[in-house]
Amino acid sequence: MTTYEALSNKFNSIRVSNIARNLQDLVRLAEEQELSYLQFAQALVDSEISARNESRIKLNLKRSRIPRIKTIEEFDFSIQTTISKRQVKGLLDFTWIDNRENVVFLGPSGVGKTHLAIALGVKAIYAGYKAVFYSTIDLLESLDLALAQHQLKERIKSLCKYDLLIIDELGYLPLDRKSICNFFQLINNLYEERSIILTTNKGFPQWGEFFADETSAIPVIDRIIHHSRIFQMNGESYRLKKQLEKESDAGNP
Ligand code: ADP
Ligand code: MG
Repeated sequence: MTTYEALSNKFNSIRVSNIARNLQDLVRLAEEQELSYLQFAQALVDSEISARNESRIKLNLKRSRIPRIKTIEEFDFSIQTTISKRQVKGLLDFTWIDNRENVVFLGPSGVGKTHLAIALGVKAIYAGYKAVFYSTIDLLESLDLALAQHQLKERIKSLCKYDLLIIDELGYLPLDRKSICNFFQLINNLYEERSIILTTNKGFPQWGEFFADETSAIPVIDRIIHHSRIFQMNGESYRLKKQLEKESDAGNP
């Protein structure tokens, strides 16, 4: 066994795996750059820390259930003028997550609500937060299932482990009594403890339409909007716009 292998094994045995894996390269680099002992010690520890950060981000992205990556960079603010780049960039310091505030994107279909919700979620994960994405249907289904298995409390607790819960597309389907009750319990647990990004196609006055009635909608709305930044987005559907452009291009070669 070479000295490198023996030393690598020692690093592995104390779970310092990045240094173990790259020991030879790190030493060569130090020699080439004529690092001092102190600089070398720093380079070793920095390489381990940045590798750990990277793998934590990768794991958190995997656990986030984000269906497809969307970025703020690919969001065209010249098309969606009801929200500004500055407003979105203003959310990237994540003080709203630190303060347990919520973000609500409200507006009709296709205006980019889910895109921005995902893009913020991804950035939050890169900034070191834990985020999880659920479509409303999946979320309610999972709460329903937990209730049936007498595990609702545990399920809600496990969702509260995330700093940020993204609830996508509330308002498209009417909710039954059981779902409303589960949803209220979830929101009540998250209130002032964790952050939510909510996307919805319905303005708050219309929430009574998909909740059984206004009375059950109000306590949920109250808790979501109490500490929140609400972005009303409008305009035409990006999907529709692109499809129409494609069709008109095909028609006018
Ligand atoms: P919503 O959730 O409001 O219904 P989405 O965020 O799902 O809309 O947007 C629909 C599609 O259009 C997605 O593929 C999204 O990436 C894209 N999209 C929407 N708005 C923009 C925009 N301003 N710039 C770039 N892509 C956009
Ligand atoms: Mg959407």
